[in-house]
Amino acid sequence: MKNKIISRAIVFFTVALFVSCNEEGEFKLFSNENTIVGIQPFGEIAQSEVDSVKAAVKEYYDFEVVVYDHIPLPENAYTEIRYPRYRADTLVEWLSQHVPDTVDMLLGLTNQDISITKYEDAARTDVKDPEWQYTDFGIFGLGRVGGNACVVSSNRLHRKVGNEMFIKRLTRISCHEVGHVLGLSHCPESNCLMNDANEKISTIDNSSGELCASCWDEIH
Ligand SMILES: [Zn+2]
Ligand SMILES: [Zn+2]
Repeated sequence: MKNKIISRAIVFFTVALFVSCNEEGEFKLFSNENTIVGIQPFGEIAQSEVDSVKAAVKEYYDFEVVVYDHIPLPENAYTEIRYPRYRADTLVEWLSQHVPDTVDMLLGLTNQDISITKYEDAARTDVKDPEWQYTDFGIFGLGRVGGNACVVSSNRLHRKVGNEMFIKRLTRISCHEVGHVLGLSHCPESNCLMNDANEKISTIDNSSGELCASCWDEIH
């Protein structure tokens, strides 16, 4: 469901980076021996959720992960267009400007709902129909392909599931957004972590939770 947004919303300003990344023939983060991911917890997100994401990113990508102190969500990301929540692209922009020199990327975590505007086309001229819904559309996470920041919200992931599945969703989406930052776009392989979930959380629940061989090769 909401993951589809990611494909549309980030395509405009991220795929261009992705393509230029490919033209250069290298992915910047993997040119480093030791990639370090910083996690920036926002507001009241539970420490157990932060710890789970830290462990998952560390284990799955074999990266060093550092966690910073909780800070309030940037006020300029707040919106009341449809509901009181935070604009994901503004959060990613904020994070990208606050990446400490000592880490390669910053992953923001929040328990507040986050949203983007979903467009019909890559040029971002027409809001997807129905406009009332897509002008401010709730999502799970947003990452810039080949950028240096991403954000994940746990807000929508509790729905209709127990804690184990909730954490599975949270960690998979976090690894998915980190995958975007590493240079991966969405993948057509249905079991792949980088699949765009066909707008359904069930796709995330049923996925292998891992990158397909082709995506894995691309970042190594
Ligand atoms: Zn995505
Ligand atoms: Zn893949």
